[in-house]
Amino acid sequence: MNQAMNQGKDNGKDNGKDKNMNNVKDNVKDKAINQVGDAASGGAGSHYDLAIVGGGMIGMAAAVCFADRYKIAIIDKSQFKGGVADVANKKLTENAEFDMRVTALNNSSLDFLHSLNIDITRYCPFRKVETWEEGVSPLVFDSSSVSQPHLGWIAENERINQPLLEKIHASKQISVYSNQVKGFAADKNLITLDDGSEHGSKISADLVLAADGRESFIRNSLPIGNHSVKHPQMAVVVQVTTEYPQKDVTWQRFTPEGAQAFLPLAGNNASLVWYTSPDYAAYLTSLKNDNKKDQETFNRHLRQTYPPQLGEVTAKRWVSFPLQSHHISSYFHNNVVFVGDAAHSIHPLAGQGANLGFKDLQVLNNLFLDKQSLTSVNNYETYQAKRMPLNAAALAFTEGVFRGFGNAIPEMQLLRQAALKVAGLPLLNDLLIREATGASLLEEFL
Ligand SMILES: Cc1cc2nc3c(=O)[nH]c(=O)nc-3n(C[C@H](O)[C@H](O)[C@H](O)COP(=O)(O)OP(=O)(O)OC[C@H]3O[C@@H](n4cnc5c(N)ncnc54)[C@H](O)[C@@H]3O)c2cc1C
Repeated sequence: MNQAMNQGKDNGKDNGKDKNMNNVKDNVKDKAINQVGDAASGGAGSHYDLAIVGGGMIGMAAAVCFADRYKIAIIDKSQFKGGVADVANKKLTENAEFDMRVTALNNSSLDFLHSLNIDITRYCPFRKVETWEEGVSPLVFDSSSVSQPHLGWIAENERINQPLLEKIHASKQISVYSNQVKGFAADKNLITLDDGSEHGSKISADLVLAADGRESFIRNSLPIGNHSVKHPQMAVVVQVTTEYPQKDVTWQRFTPEGAQAFLPLAGNNASLVWYTSPDYAAYLTSLKNDNKKDQETFNRHLRQTYPPQLGEVTAKRWVSFPLQSHHISSYFHNNVVFVGDAAHSIHPLAGQGANLGFKDLQVLNNLFLDKQSLTSVNNYETYQAKRMPLNAAALAFTEGVFRGFGNAIPEMQLLRQAALKVAGLPLLNDLLIREATGASLLEEFL
């Protein structure tokens, strides 16, 4: 059976018939129709101004951002599987289960999402970030020092994606393809979609925006260098309930075994990120969250590791992620431009990956103004000149923190303590906060 069918936006189904058909029509009037080229003949199908490969947070935000000026295709192999309309119409109630994945959005990302009329529900604003290391007084970043009401929000990924999906579903300019991209010809910007047939179906575009994440298929199809670092740790993300209601503080604690982070969520809920060895992460995730005995064991490990200041916490669910950072050597190739994790990924300790991706889009939003600007090499160069140095700086800073703080070497502990004291000096402290909120000073020089 063909899994990778194109899904019409009206009801998320292939209109009930042939899953291999090449022209899947949206049966709601006046809406964009997903059309795939004649796969049998291998001929080209629909042509778009902009084809976005990857419908993660960054790809979807790009579609919403550019829908006011371009005819857009957005393609994703998994995001739209449930059917765009079904997913877009799903109501996320206040009492719904918390999503396992959460993101610390900085003020700049929030402003950008608000400019797209994206309303996120059940978020938790935070005003302070505290950083601890045993034996040193905590380093505190406070929003008041940059005259902001808060430093950002912790939001569930599902609640960032949902309003983006609603906008995509409602737009007549955007066609959605629930397919895996299995081929790409850069000379013609021709994308081959896996529709279950031997040759697949094809669509093309003036510009291809590669937003297909860390393992980007588009990037791997092109002669573009990629500097990648695999970290010898895993991130175990734990959804917890807490004894105390959340205050507007998020914190990170550095221990010789690795870092720990606490991200407050609405009410008595929070998300913990526990950086640890692959072996320990494998053990922790082998414990089943629907088994009472395993849950007790997991909680015992958690309480032994996490500091008592947290109060009583109870883990409900947990999942682990591998850690890898990378940065590509060019942000464009012919008429392909890379954004978000397809271009750069960063250790999540900094809570910056998605924020950097939203910044990429903000820059492109000011460059891609009309049809001609989509294919302007000058624009691609300006984008790269504005974003590459800042993304590289964020990556280098985070790698430095990860390497300096994530180890048990005694000499490094002295250095860490000195670094925290220096970072606590008012001027540097303010500079670091400005970078974290997305109000970068460096940006003004690029
Ligand atoms: C544990 C953890 C915590 C994090 N916390 C934060 C945080 O607090 N703040 C922050 O800013 N960032 C955070 N991040 C980083 C953030 O999650 C990522 O930077 C962000 O999700 C990247 O979004 P993206 O859309 O660029 O890529 P992705 O989310 O990877 O999306 C790529 C999409 O492309 C699709 N795709 C891939 N290949 C194909 C193909 N061949 N055909 C069709 N579709 C394809 C995939 O299905 C996917 O939907 C965290 C990351 C981790 C792992």
